[in-house]
Parts: sequence; C-alpha cells; structure tokens
Amino acid sequence: MQKRIFKTIATLTTTVSLIVFFASAYIIFYKVSQSIMATLKEETILLSNILNEDSEYLFNNKILIDSRITLIAYDGKVLFDNKVDIETLDNHDDRPEFINAINYGQSKSIRKSDSIKTQSYYYAVKLNNGNVIRLSQESSTVWGIIIPQINLIIAATILIVLISLFIANIQTKKIVEPINNLDLENPLSNKVYPELNDLLISLEENNKIKREFSANVSHELKTPLTSISGYAEIMANEISRAEDQKAFSQKIYDESQKLINKINDIIKVSKLDEKKAEQEFTLINYKILIEEILNTLNPMIQKNNIYVETDLQNVSGEAIRSIMYDCLFNIIQNGIKYNKRYGSIYISLNEFNNNIYITIKDTGIGISQEDLPRIYERFFRADRSCNQTIEGTGLGLAITKHGIARHKGTISTYSKINEGTIFEIILPQKKTLI
Ligand code: ADP
Repeated sequence: MQKRIFKTIATLTTTVSLIVFFASAYIIFYKVSQSIMATLKEETILLSNILNEDSEYLFNNKILIDSRITLIAYDGKVLFDNKVDIETLDNHDDRPEFINAINYGQSKSIRKSDSIKTQSYYYAVKLNNGNVIRLSQESSTVWGIIIPQINLIIAATILIVLISLFIANIQTKKIVEPINNLDLENPLSNKVYPELNDLLISLEENNKIKREFSANVSHELKTPLTSISGYAEIMANEISRAEDQKAFSQKIYDESQKLINKINDIIKVSKLDEKKAEQEFTLINYKILIEEILNTLNPMIQKNNIYVETDLQNVSGEAIRSIMYDCLFNIIQNGIKYNKRYGSIYISLNEFNNNIYITIKDTGIGISQEDLPRIYERFFRADRSCNQTIEGTGLGLAITKHGIARHKGTISTYSKINEGTIFEIILPQKKTLI
C-alpha cells in the first residue's frame, strides 16, 4: 500500500509541478510578447508621423531607440537600416509585414529566428510617399524562457516530490498503524476509523459463525460416536445375547454411515467457505443433471411411494457441475424425505432472458413460518417429532444456499405446514463469477 501511495504521489507532484512551471513560462512569454508588440507599434507610428513631415529625418538625425529601424522603398529595396549594412540586404518585397503595410497601411508579424530560443517582432507602417517604415525587436520564445531555467525546474520538481514523499511517508504510517494493531479476535473492541466499521462488523459475524460452527461440529459428531462406542462396549463386554449381536452391529453400521454423511457435508461447507471448491465453470445441461439426480434418488422415491412429475425444458448454462449437483440434490432429496406417503413432487425447468428458473414443489409436511427463516442455517433442523425419524445433517440447505450464491443466483422458499413447500431458484445462464 505504501508503495502505491508513494507512486501516486510522486506522479501527481511531478505532473503538477511541471504543468505549473510550463504554464508560468507560457504566461510570462505571452505577456512579454504583447508588451513588445505594443511598444513596437507605438514607436513605429510615432516615427512614421515624423517621417511624413520630414522624409529625410532618418538620414539627418541620430535616433536613440533600441529597436532596429528599416526604411523600405515601395518596390522592396531597403533604403535605410540602423543595425545592418543595407548593401548586404536583399529586396524586402516578400516580407509579409511589408506586403500587408503596402496593402492595408499597417501590419505586424512575428518570425522565428535561426535558433528556437529567439524570435523577431516586426511592425510596419506605410508612409505618405509610398515607402514603408519598419521597426523590429528580438525576444525569447517560450523555450528561450524555459531552457535556461531547466536545471532550476528539475531541481525544484525533485525537491517538491521529495517533500511530498516525506509528508506521505509520515501520513501513511499514521494511517496504517491503527490498522496493523487491530484486535482481530475482538473486532468490535477496535475504535479506529468509521470507514472500517462495516468490515469489523462482518469480521465479528464471521468469527461468531466460525465459533458456533466448531462447537456444533463437535456436538454433531459426538452424538453418533457415543452410540457407536456404547454398542461396541456392550458387545465387547459380552453382556449382549448372541442374537442381539447382529442388531448391534447393524446399529454401529448405521451410526457410522450417519457420521460419514455428516463429515462429508461438513467438508463441503468448509470447502465452500474457503472458496477452495472446484472453480471450473462448464456448460452443463440442467435437464440431464436433474434426471441424473432423480435416478440416484429412485430407491428413496420408490420406498416412500412418491409420485414425481417433471416439466423440464432442454436448458443449458454455465456452472460448477459438482456444486450445482449438490444444490439441486439437497432440495429434491428434501422434497422426498419431508413428504407424506403417496405424496408428490413437481420439478420444472425453464429459461427466460438469459436466466434459468428451477422450481421444486412438494406436497410434504411443510415448514412453520417460525422455522422458515432458519432453514438455511448450519445444523438447523425443524423441531418436529417426525424429524426424529427422518435422517439428516442440517447442513444440506446451508450448502445449497452457499452454492447458489457462488453462481450469483437466488433461492426463495414458500411453505405451508402440512401442505407442502416450494423452492424457487433463479440462476444466470452465463458465468458472472467472482
Ligand atoms: P437436513 O439434512 O436436516 O435435511 P437441510 O439443511 O437440508 O438439512 O434442511 C434443514 C431443515 O429444513 C430440515 O431439517 C427440515 O426441517 C427443513 N426442510 C428442508 N426442506 C424441507 C421440505 N421440503 N419440507 C419440509 N421441511 C423441510
């Protein structure tokens, strides 16, 4: 961060200093030009008035002005020049200020000199006798002002940049120090910047979720393990009758399966949390995916005598296949698990405006309005007597919600107790992932 701030400040101060220097040089040049031309005009008009009175004035008097004075005949021949030998001068009938003075009476012109540092200013006035009097001055161009000062400009710029960096260094340290000293274990105890409040609140929530999750995981794993250990102990002590051995082994097997399911779900949630889950988006066919899930769940459908009705369009979209499989599997499985005997489940799949719509509707036991907002919480299981007999980890919908969010989708639930539940999922068809 410090490096970035330094870079920004160095670029900013260098740019601003150079702009200020060049703009100042240009303003000075502009003002000087204007004043030279104004003086030149005044002097030329004054001299032209004198020459109109006395055309020989130039030849008879010494003129005490700094400007170069040239008298040019109406045909361009130079008649007089106070600075240059007129024998060396060529015909001036091509000079723009001469041509314009002949045509319009007065004219000015500025021409670059041999070097880029200087330029010449000319003012010419036509006399009554047809000749032209012209005055000229040399002065610096913008570069003529800047180039001699370039060392000063560079030195001043470096100095300004160094001072800015020095101040930035102190300021950055002052800003960063409280952030480095944040107590991340107790985010809300930090009184730093109001701008960090949202971050600290979400950090606190994260910490809370992590603490609760760890506590819940330990508790959830302990329950089946205690059973397994209990049954194994009985068997080891040979307290049980021989005929009970098989039933106890079965119980140990069942509890182990529960344990494995729970651990698998916990791994899935943790992976989603860490965003380590498979990231690759591929084009998947949702119809085929749902049919595959129904196929896997077929033994359960048969066992519970559930009637399955589907209306599946041939819809494809970009998704992480394994995550999307788990999301839809959990909801469809719930529709079967929490159904009534001879109940039904309806699944529809459509596509509209680059969005995929999936509805899963069951005629099952439903969820109370009180429990509805909590079903996506980790380890939450609605506290109904039937839940005691229906297997579950309480993590399925937490995984689903996380997975759908990973796909930038939304999931909504509507339920009525003893009538059934509807899950509606909307997913963008194209990958718009983080
Ligand atoms: P579980 O492993 O218990 O099924 P889930 O996270 O999938 O965990 O669901 C959380 C709870 O939400 C379930 O225990 C159940 O009480 C309730 N639930 C989920 N889906 C349904 C449904 N289709 N019908 C009735 N209750 C449901």
